[in-house]
Amino acid sequence: MTEIDKTKPVLVTGATGYVAGWLVKKLLEEGIDVHAAVRNPDNKAKLAHLDEIAAKSKGSISYFKSDLLEEGSYAEAMKGCELVYHTASPFALDVKDAQRDLIDPAVNGTKNVLNSASATPSVKRVVVTSSCAAIYGDAIDTQNAPGGKITEEIWNTTSSLEHGPYSYSKTLAEKKAWEMQKAQSQWDLVCINPSFVMGPALNPKNTTSESQSVLMQMVDGTMKMGAPKLGFGVVDVRDVAEAHFKAGFTPVAQGRYITSGTETDLLEMAMSLIPKYGDRFPLPKKALPKWLLMIVAPLINKNYTRRFIKDNVNVPWSGDNSKIKKELGMEFRPLQESMEDGLQQLIDEGIVVAK
Ligand code: NDP
Repeated sequence: MTEIDKTKPVLVTGATGYVAGWLVKKLLEEGIDVHAAVRNPDNKAKLAHLDEIAAKSKGSISYFKSDLLEEGSYAEAMKGCELVYHTASPFALDVKDAQRDLIDPAVNGTKNVLNSASATPSVKRVVVTSSCAAIYGDAIDTQNAPGGKITEEIWNTTSSLEHGPYSYSKTLAEKKAWEMQKAQSQWDLVCINPSFVMGPALNPKNTTSESQSVLMQMVDGTMKMGAPKLGFGVVDVRDVAEAHFKAGFTPVAQGRYITSGTETDLLEMAMSLIPKYGDRFPLPKKALPKWLLMIVAPLINKNYTRRFIKDNVNVPWSGDNSKIKKELGMEFRPLQESMEDGLQQLIDEGIVVAK
């Protein structure tokens, strides 16, 4: 049981991020003072949306310069906080050097933030943004799980530096977090494990998240010949923020929480946009055959190996979201709403142009 005092500031690492933006908004609207740890507090373009929200909210925001790779750089931002949200971690699928670009910032960053938590006596709870990627590597793993769906009991054992390095980085980082939590008794740990996040960004012109890149590819013609039935779960970014909020302020919150609204696949996601936008964008209308992908995909993108295609295409994804519904009272938006709100925003902001 951990009670968090809402009059104390709350730290959010990676506050510029797509997921973190909605969490910061929620905290500010609840009247909480947010300590926003960011790599560059002088980059106004990446922070203007947060300042605007803070100006209209009861809570206040202050910025702290912090980098996952600089030891001790979260200490100042953490002072006086009872609750720490650690969301910062690179989310990129196409990187040059997976160890340097994904694993090191994810794992050493987690170590760095949690070492500061142990050195800051006010800290009572840390909520880490992990991922379903720390639970499964390929969609086939969900089918092979007991009962044919992943639960919080399961860990990703199939990703590696060579196969699914982003998923591997999230697995190693979450393992490190639990190892460090168990070695002390000052703070407890709650992990939020979202599936693929979709929905509008608060700062769409400066979003680096892979979530927005995937949505852009659905409408820019990349998938006009069809899309693979690549199985995964999807959750709305606003629901992910709500899950973080509840994980922080629900005294009995404990362990990991699969945070996923819909079991779907890439083609179904894209096709959910057809009723409203099908006449304006070259959306995919049919599945690309697996045999064709086995031949062509590895030539187009080094991440789409034959093993990846075999274990993910035409393989349904299944995850059990009952723990978060029961313990934190979460409800999830339907897929269509996340997809339509996400695309409508890209149109309204002039980021994608309809025919
Ligand atoms: P974003 O790219 O929008 O956010 C990533 C954040 O991490 C940014 O704020 C970025 O800061 C920060 N960051 C990256 N490297 C460093 C570093 N070396 N030092 C300090 N900060 C750093 O991605 P998302 O919002 O999608 O991801 C946020 C979290 O959610 C991540 O932990 C991700 O793994 C997790 N997640 C995301 C899912 C998704 O589908 N989007 C699904 C499941 C989990 P800067 O602005 O300075 O680059």
